Amino acid sequence: MAEKKAGPAKAAKATKSESKSKSQSALQQKLGKLGLRSRNDLILHFPLRYEDETSVVTIAEAPWDGPVQVEVRVTDVSIQFRPRRQLVARCEDDSGELWLRFLNFYGSQAKQLETARDEGRKLRVFGEIRGGFFGSEMVHPRYKSLAPEGTGTSLPQSLTPVYPTTAGLAQSALRKIIGKALAESDLAETLDASLLQELDLAPFAASARLLHAPPPGTDEFSLQSRRHPAWRRIKFDELLAQQLSLRRAYLARREQGAPRLKASGDLAQRLLQQLSFQLTGAQQRVWQEIARDLGEAHPMQRLLQGDVGSGKTIVAALAACQAIECGWQAAFMAPTEILAEQHYKKLSAWLEPLGVSVAWLSGSLKSAKKKAAQAEAAAGAQLVVGTHALIQEDVDFLRLGLAIVDEQHRFGVAQRLELRKKGKAGIPHQLMMSATPIPRTLAMSYYADLDVSVIDELPPGRTPIRTKLVSDARRDEVVGAVRHAVESGRQAYWVCPLIEESEKLDLQAAIDTHAILAEELEGLSVGLVHGRLKPDEKAATMAAFAAGEIHVLVATTVIEVGVDVPNASLMVIEHAERFGLAQLHQLRGRVGRGAHESACVLLYATPLSQTGRARLKIIYENTDGFEIARQDLQLRGPGEFVGARQSGVPLLRYADLEMDGELVDLARDQAERLLRERPAEAERHLQRWLGSKEELLKA
Ligand code: ADP
Ligand code: MG
Repeated sequence: MAEKKAGPAKAAKATKSESKSKSQSALQQKLGKLGLRSRNDLILHFPLRYEDETSVVTIAEAPWDGPVQVEVRVTDVSIQFRPRRQLVARCEDDSGELWLRFLNFYGSQAKQLETARDEGRKLRVFGEIRGGFFGSEMVHPRYKSLAPEGTGTSLPQSLTPVYPTTAGLAQSALRKIIGKALAESDLAETLDASLLQELDLAPFAASARLLHAPPPGTDEFSLQSRRHPAWRRIKFDELLAQQLSLRRAYLARREQGAPRLKASGDLAQRLLQQLSFQLTGAQQRVWQEIARDLGEAHPMQRLLQGDVGSGKTIVAALAACQAIECGWQAAFMAPTEILAEQHYKKLSAWLEPLGVSVAWLSGSLKSAKKKAAQAEAAAGAQLVVGTHALIQEDVDFLRLGLAIVDEQHRFGVAQRLELRKKGKAGIPHQLMMSATPIPRTLAMSYYADLDVSVIDELPPGRTPIRTKLVSDARRDEVVGAVRHAVESGRQAYWVCPLIEESEKLDLQAAIDTHAILAEELEGLSVGLVHGRLKPDEKAATMAAFAAGEIHVLVATTVIEVGVDVPNASLMVIEHAERFGLAQLHQLRGRVGRGAHESACVLLYATPLSQTGRARLKIIYENTDGFEIARQDLQLRGPGEFVGARQSGVPLLRYADLEMDGELVDLARDQAERLLRERPAEAERHLQRWLGSKEELLKA
């Protein structure tokens, strides 16, 4: 009998502890969602904002423009059905009455309020007062029932933190867990006292404690201002950790070996001599920077930034020459078929006369041709140009010495690494190119593990592009301008509206636009190119446009990057308000490449939203890609930029790259210094900030 009794009791006990550990792991999971995996993570989980529960006002005095705290007696509790089912408590203090309303409530809540009424306990209530159905009211206030008169609960001394959280994790629970973490940790200092003094930084422990529970009466802690020295310290720490980890990755790469590509420069000189132009000063400078890197025994990781049309391709070709002259291969990868093919044509026109073998490898090649191209790469073709096809498994290089990636932001980190892995005979040098200029602070933050060269000058003789904003009510005039341009011997692009939601609609829009324009521009040759065309059809159309056989090229954004037809002097973009600013800037850069006066017409649909107007104004007023990017950053925030999300770089939570530019500089300098002079301190700091996250960075 006794045993029988024990059975169920034991089972019940087991289930209880099981369910406890289940809820424990559910909690872990929710914390994990917030990136909180260690005690350190909890300590560094700072509030978004605060609520002031440190004082109590009377109902009559309470302002109606924000949350307040009052202490009231409950006089009446009822469940009402007007206008819908709700729990209503009438309360009062000496100055007036206040109704509390709860639309969703538990039975226990009604009981609790009734008990407070019956026992004469006061409620301390926090919420916003407003005029309502019953009079002055608070809807869903937070409240707590106070001990009977005489033994009143004292008010908190500090502001109540409100943390970023996730569904199912209450603020109160998070506060408790974070409070415990703070109490259990010694909040040891990671940085040397001399450094703190030199940089005028507040101590970590005091800063962290303060930010989790600051005193009332100042605005210095709010997210908007974050002016307090405690915030400055935390932001600096965050930036320092980011810089340290990027810098360390950079240094680790320098430990790896790469072929020393030291050439006489003869091949490059021969290429320069046969060009119809001279390098600009900026091109010469970046070319020197690259040439020097290639001669080192560790892999170059250089980003070549230059606005649209600044002439990055020739610089890449010169770099390829250096590798080739040293007996190594170069690979040149571009994100689209059109662009890659154009590069192939240009590079082979430049290099084949110098006796360089250039191979072409793209996904669209028929299988026999693809096999042949792969065989050329494997046999040591000196330059291999192509699309993503270059990083497929079945592609091998005999001696890859230099990997060039054009429009690098179009590729993911993994893809860029794949190309590097193709170097069987050592890690190749890597040159990445981008026309998406990003502001300096952002570059420092996201590209701190790269060396950056910037072409900050356009080739001479370019006439500036005039940009016009035209309402689509005046489309006829624009069509007239296209005809006029063609009659004066020029060519034009007509970019179709972007239809984000549907590729099919996007395609249809292009086909329709083409049909309409072909009719409106009777007598002219109007071509069409879009993403769904077969690669050889695409290539044929582009070739016809380049040869001047097609006068007007209707296109979807497939022409966004890199296309180069100098005789095209007019660009029309329909529904310009739907495009991103970087995209518009890139598109506009397709014209103004020859000596002819060029124009870009941004057709917009009316009415234009306020942000739509603000964005088009930026493009209208600016021609400098960096300035456009800077303003775009202000409008959109950094997350969207340059594939920053997929860059593997830890995102900043507290520091703001725009507002805290000074700290970014400081953190970068100190990161270098710490790694050099006091690596243990650097390690300690990294552990605190990225200890549970560093695996993200090992890509
Ligand atoms: P991007 O930097 O946008 O890739 P490209 O390399 O396509 O620019 O160059 C744009 C055009 O300018 C090409 O036709 C190229 O041959 C030409 N170009 C490059 N450098 C010079 C120069 N120094 N002087 C004149 N034209 C140049
Ligand atoms: Mg280019």
